[in-house]
Amino acid sequence: MKLVAAALVAVAASWMLAGSAAGQAAEVRVVVNGVDVPLAVPAVVFNGQVMAPMSGLFEPMGAIAAYYETDRSIVVTNRVRTTLVLWLNETAVLVNGQPQSLPVAPALLGSEVFVPVQATFALLGAWARFDEAERAVFVNSQITGITPQVASGALQVSVDATGPVQVETNVLSNPDRLVVDFINATLRTQGRQYAVGEAGVDRIRTAQFQVKPFISRMVFDLNQPVEISITSAPTSYLVTLQVRPRGAAPWQAAGNGPNASPLTPAGPVKVTAVGFQSDGQAGRITVDSTGPMEYKIREFAFPDRLAIDMQNAVFIPVKREISVDGTSVVSIRAAQFTARPPVTRIVVTLKRKLNYVVNRSAGQLTVDLNTNMAARGHLVAIDPGHGGQDPGAIGPSGLREADVVLDIAMRVRDLLARDGIRVLLLRDSDATVDLEDRPRLAREGGATLYVSIHANASPRAAVNGTETFYLTPQSLVLAQMIQDELGVVLGIPSRGIKTANFVVLRDNEMPAVLVETAFISHADDELRLRDQAFRQHVAEAVHHGIARFLAIYPVPQQAP
Ligand SMILES: [Zn+2]
Repeated sequence: MKLVAAALVAVAASWMLAGSAAGQAAEVRVVVNGVDVPLAVPAVVFNGQVMAPMSGLFEPMGAIAAYYETDRSIVVTNRVRTTLVLWLNETAVLVNGQPQSLPVAPALLGSEVFVPVQATFALLGAWARFDEAERAVFVNSQITGITPQVASGALQVSVDATGPVQVETNVLSNPDRLVVDFINATLRTQGRQYAVGEAGVDRIRTAQFQVKPFISRMVFDLNQPVEISITSAPTSYLVTLQVRPRGAAPWQAAGNGPNASPLTPAGPVKVTAVGFQSDGQAGRITVDSTGPMEYKIREFAFPDRLAIDMQNAVFIPVKREISVDGTSVVSIRAAQFTARPPVTRIVVTLKRKLNYVVNRSAGQLTVDLNTNMAARGHLVAIDPGHGGQDPGAIGPSGLREADVVLDIAMRVRDLLARDGIRVLLLRDSDATVDLEDRPRLAREGGATLYVSIHANASPRAAVNGTETFYLTPQSLVLAQMIQDELGVVLGIPSRGIKTANFVVLRDNEMPAVLVETAFISHADDELRLRDQAFRQHVAEAVHHGIARFLAIYPVPQQAP
């Protein structure tokens, strides 16, 4: 480590010298939204500013960064289209075109671009602090606004954040309340209360519930049982909570008045059965019990799953794996999670992130998955690049791009079709289709989404990996979702998402991306592209990315 540091100093900016002089201290960790970012080379501290290599730094904040050698600029953009432009060795920075300044200039060390962590994230609206004692810089999404409003008997709370937030819901008894936690999120407005008096909710209290890790908490004081649904917006960091009184149920109809809580378990409740009913892309999980249960639901990613914890609940059927034949769920496992206190846990592994609605009655908890079914109205155009007279790029051992991408495209079509999503395949044989015709064919066919599949080529034989291109703002999220999946499963370098002025992206009004699956010009990547299993992995990753996007992207209004 010392040797590496010494080598870096030779080409370093002045802050590097200071950083290594203070160097006996432990390495500095960079923790962004709870993710301990793996750093290619160690971060250093200069003038209180943590300087860290930029690769991988911004993704946990839902942002992406690119370094442009031509003008030595670093461009950082996020989902709400905040754009920062920084330059090497300059403290000037543009924030959405407005000049501001950084306390320390970015610098190039070896092949790594270092950026000032707290300052850069602060310009994205994030909360960032360097904890001297822990030798770690903590960066969180900030919750900037909470807006409750009541409409047609339901309470809708819009929660605005500066980055992605992870939501946990928790229903507690005595008194009845609903707790919604935002993990790794900092609350900008402290300790507010909102009087509601409708939709089963008396008031909402908000607080910074915990630091390390940060948890922002909203407590809904209830006067009757409610159900809640949570949706995340595709093109912003807005989370919408909808709370409404639960439909009349036997134990509520007993007429004990709004404040008489029927949720007073005497001793642990017994969970007697867990079931799943599939309805195409939607599905319902049912949990039967001998009495009302308190529950907590956590969301996890990679793979997407829900953990449903039933508090004070003993699981009677020893351990269960429920067979699932739906297209939205991979598996459901239920078991006694802890004996003391008794917690029953149900883990639902999803094929992608889904919206869900929870409903609780005295003897049953139901979790409805994917209730909006938005994806079914979509028509996905899949464009296998090249074909016919145009073989595309040809690998060192003779593999033709046109053949590989057709096979992958047909696999993507089959996977989407299995979900009940309609697909328009722009060629299904080795046929010539003019490039200029492809976006038009998609548009005339009624497509709502466009995914072009290619294999990459470079004059430099050593270049490999996967990357996804987009051009228009509405395509960024789709590109990011597909590239996220490819990066996780393919086992080759993820080169990230990039903009490019390709015809199929430029002449397209719908969200449109071009996936460069791997480099056919790279001998090992070509070998992978020959492999059926690798092609299937690519197709599954593209399918997952599309499915994630469709789950949150509404079908556009039909043109008149
Ligand atoms: Zn191509």
